[in-house]
Amino acid sequence: MNIEQKIQKNIKLAPLTTFNIGGLAEFYLEVENKEELELAFSWAHENKKLITMLGGGSNILINDEGIKGLVLRLANNDFGVEKNRVDCGASMTLTKLGQKLASLGLSGLEWGVGIPGAQLGGAIVGNAGAFGTTTSNIIEEVEVFDLNLGKWRNFNKEECGFDYRNSIFKDTKKYLIFNAKLIMQKKKKEEVEDRVKEILDIRNKKQPKHPNAGSIFKNVNLDYLKKRNPDLAKRAEEEGVIIGGMVSSGWLVGERGLGERKIGGAQISKEHGNFIINKNKATALDVITLISYIKQKIRNEFNIQFQEEIRYLGF
Ligand SMILES: Cc1cc2nc3c(=O)[nH]c(=O)nc-3n(C[C@H](O)[C@H](O)[C@H](O)COP(=O)(O)OP(=O)(O)OC[C@H]3O[C@@H](n4cnc5c(N)ncnc54)[C@H](O)[C@@H]3O)c2cc1C
Repeated sequence: MNIEQKIQKNIKLAPLTTFNIGGLAEFYLEVENKEELELAFSWAHENKKLITMLGGGSNILINDEGIKGLVLRLANNDFGVEKNRVDCGASMTLTKLGQKLASLGLSGLEWGVGIPGAQLGGAIVGNAGAFGTTTSNIIEEVEVFDLNLGKWRNFNKEECGFDYRNSIFKDTKKYLIFNAKLIMQKKKKEEVEDRVKEILDIRNKKQPKHPNAGSIFKNVNLDYLKKRNPDLAKRAEEEGVIIGGMVSSGWLVGERGLGERKIGGAQISKEHGNFIINKNKATALDVITLISYIKQKIRNEFNIQFQEEIRYLGF
């Protein structure tokens, strides 16, 4: 197979993101199987091109100048199930997977249904989660291609280093997740399907309608907040905005009175203080400027440092 013939040049990336922001990929390839991934790796190595992995594009901000090098997007939606064990390609969307699992009476991914675009691989990278649970809770093993060694490797759950919105895959950027083995909980089919419907309903009501990238900032650790701003921590406890020891960043943005602040085409969502919406042809620069503005205001007023949950690609 000649992989060069399949690699495209100057592909628009904005439509591949839920923010609908970002420039062109210098080179772009949709990878359908292991052989193609290996050939793409060799091509990038020979041509000295950096590889960037794109999932469903639902938690990233892409530079207005685009991404230099080779952007890979996986098309591996393989699916196999044996009792409560599932083998799944990393580009399966959480919505499709969660619904499929529900129809089999398999519980553990109901929370992920209704997130636009989000894929299993991206969810593993950021240990995504909601409604009191996370991706790590269903992971048994992850199969990756190691870009440093040019080899396939398997990581068991412990080796993935899962933490709050984090894993070893997040910052190292050297592993391309291809596949994962999941362990689900067997329940009554109706029970799982009802929960899926319930969550879809909540998401349809609460998620902003304008393009966005989900939570911009990680929630803030309560112990950290107690140290830096005991009065605010007390208020957060009183108002019940703490889940699993983390204080809602959306609430903090609202408390600082930043709701609906706008820079260029980017605006803080009125539905959720931790979401920035692309209100009107926002650029990545608009979004970054708004992010810096929020971080500065929060730091000055509350003595705490926000940390981004979204990833920046091409910067
Ligand atoms: C409306 C909305 C609601 C959301 N709600 C939630 C929520 O409730 N909980 C939550 O945790 N998140 C939420 N998100 C954020 C987001 O959907 C998740 O973080 C999701 O898991 C990201 O997956 P993705 O496939 O879109 O990854 P992308 O955004 O494409 O990528 C994220 C990072 O992972 C890397 N990556 C992606 N795929 C792979 C792969 N196969 N191998 C290696 N690296 C890869 C990328 O390079 C990038 O660094 C929401 C987003 C939106 C838009």
